[in-house]
Amino acid sequence: MAKGIEELLPKLKKNTSQADLDRIRDAYECAQKAHEGQKRRDGAPFISHPCATASIIAEMGLDTDSIVAGLLHDCIEDTELTYENIKERFGEGVALLVDGVTKLGKIPYSSKEEEQMEDLRKMFLAMAKDIRVILIKLADRLHNMRTISYLPIEKQREKALETMEIYAPIAHRLGMQKIKWELEDLSLQCLDPIGYREIVEGLEAKRSEHEMFLEHIKDKISQRLEEVGIKAKIDGRVKHIYSIYRKMYAQNKNMDEIYDVCAVRVIVDTIADCYNVLGFVHDLYKPIPGRFKDYISTPKPNMYRSLHTTVIGREGIPFEVQIRTFEMHHMAEYGIAAHWKYKAGVTKQDGSENEFAWIRQLLEGQQDTDAEDFIRTIKVDLFADEVFVFTPKGDVINLPAGATPIDFAYAIHSAVGNRMVGAKVGGRIVQLDYQLKNGDIVDILTSKETYGPKRDWLQIVKTGEARNKIKQWFKKECREENIQRGREEFERELRAALLTNAFADEEIKTAVLKRFSFNSLDEMYAGIGYGGVTTTRVLNKIREELSRYNAKQDKLDPEKLITTRKAKTESSGAIIEGVDNCLVKFARCCTPIPGDEIVGFITRGYGVSIHRKDCPNAQSSMRSETEKDRWIQVKWNDGSMSDHYMVGMQISCKSRVGLLADIAMVFSNMKINVHEMTARDLRDGYTVISLMIESTGMEQFELIANRLKRISGVITVSRSLMENR
Ligand code: MN
Repeated sequence: MAKGIEELLPKLKKNTSQADLDRIRDAYECAQKAHEGQKRRDGAPFISHPCATASIIAEMGLDTDSIVAGLLHDCIEDTELTYENIKERFGEGVALLVDGVTKLGKIPYSSKEEEQMEDLRKMFLAMAKDIRVILIKLADRLHNMRTISYLPIEKQREKALETMEIYAPIAHRLGMQKIKWELEDLSLQCLDPIGYREIVEGLEAKRSEHEMFLEHIKDKISQRLEEVGIKAKIDGRVKHIYSIYRKMYAQNKNMDEIYDVCAVRVIVDTIADCYNVLGFVHDLYKPIPGRFKDYISTPKPNMYRSLHTTVIGREGIPFEVQIRTFEMHHMAEYGIAAHWKYKAGVTKQDGSENEFAWIRQLLEGQQDTDAEDFIRTIKVDLFADEVFVFTPKGDVINLPAGATPIDFAYAIHSAVGNRMVGAKVGGRIVQLDYQLKNGDIVDILTSKETYGPKRDWLQIVKTGEARNKIKQWFKKECREENIQRGREEFERELRAALLTNAFADEEIKTAVLKRFSFNSLDEMYAGIGYGGVTTTRVLNKIREELSRYNAKQDKLDPEKLITTRKAKTESSGAIIEGVDNCLVKFARCCTPIPGDEIVGFITRGYGVSIHRKDCPNAQSSMRSETEKDRWIQVKWNDGSMSDHYMVGMQISCKSRVGLLADIAMVFSNMKINVHEMTARDLRDGYTVISLMIESTGMEQFELIANRLKRISGVITVSRSLMENR
């Protein structure tokens, strides 16, 4: 058996069952066989890499699935083994982890400005639905960085930059200080070998000095703690190289001018002891004002907890003291990974989203955010409502989950969206309603000929930005078309809702337009046309206004007493001054026909009712205080003479047998439609016949009347006025 597994197994013996050890050995054998013949750049068999990775994962304290996945992590990418093979042999959990790690490895990377880097980091977090995928990837990267010197220089720089910009910050966010520091130092060594060597040599030169300094402090503190009976573990250390490097750059100092490179850590059993130790340290050394930080009462957003203070030691040299419990210490070193260690055996861990509810809770309790916006990142993105995709050039575009290629196109530029004719994802044409996935590379196909978005895109897009830009386009680019489309849609819906009459009322119309801030009907049609307002909303408003009017005025409205009858007469035979396209109806009481002098009454919700000027109902209403303002000038439409109108006729006659037949014959010969006919006997053998007939106007009416008068027994023929209706 190779050296790899021999190193790994002892680390596991303590907390791992025999069954788990068997699985791990099985995974090792599987990986070894799959990678057979492959070599690392340093000449070692490839299997040494997955073994080292698994070993780091084991050190983090992760579960068996993670260790197994660590051993297999390069198999899907670099060997014959498939997802299915792994699933079959090691279960779906392991297969998903390996698959996740493989996908993370495919995120294209190139150095960019900070904002882009931030999105790239978020994508990393979002892509790994299971946090263990990230931890495995970090372990993988850590081992690759440890062995980076075998890569060509150019590759080294590339990997180091990526590590510095993506992996180290992610380790920081997950609270994994130990890995973060190591990644930073390894990267720095590649990125600025001279600067790195300067610090290493500077530290080396002062090594004994530092050691003595730290020894002295440790002795002094431990002596005092022993006196008061506090058990503590005291570590002295020199800060990691990258933190010194950053300090030199930030303060523009050279190595000799950086004093506080030493730090002491006191680890105790209880939180109470932390504060006790702090008191003794401040008693022994003079604290620098403003440098005390209590991350126990207010943990850092990445869950880090400790007391920090900087004090002055011998010869005025400052040093930092960190005080924490053993549990806090483990958390500080391993961050999120510590979760497994502390919860191990309590519940079954699967790393799924629900498992991390505790992180969310923890984070939500923390209002005090660190400079690094950890809370936002974790809360919004690790449990993601967002999706991160690439342009073909490798820029990251951040969109809400469920976003489509159309959203993507408009996120780039409205001109791209407006010219879009299709989209490719990963080189393949997709439907426009395709839901983008993390890491997709999206290519928008545009055309100069077919210019403009489609109206149904409004139903597809997910972002407000895309929706607004599409609406904007329709608003601007095709006003005429919008008015036309809006009018058609509106009138159709209006008819279907039986509200045509209501909307013809000026007061209701005005109120509705005002409600939506439209200055004209055309504006409203345009609004409906481009989707700025829906017909449903307008109709609801009309209903609302209508019921308000009805409630107020119903009982007073004489028009309500008139039976409306659907007939041809509802066509717009009358023109109303200053109002076009208004519903017109002819009053049944006086049945006006062309040739009559007419007036119009604006009804509440049913258009304009036309009366004869001499109609008694009209006359009395025009005198009424509350109604006189509703009467308006109207005149006959010149082109309306061929229309038929209902008109009331009254015939007085001397009764005889066959009279009604003779009268009916006249109508029949003249092709006049008769709608109603009632005969009422008066005394002395006289009869009054009332009819409702259709006529084109006064001229025809007179013609009919003359024919009727020729019938024996007919005395008078006149228009009827039905005052009681
Ligand atoms: Mn690897």
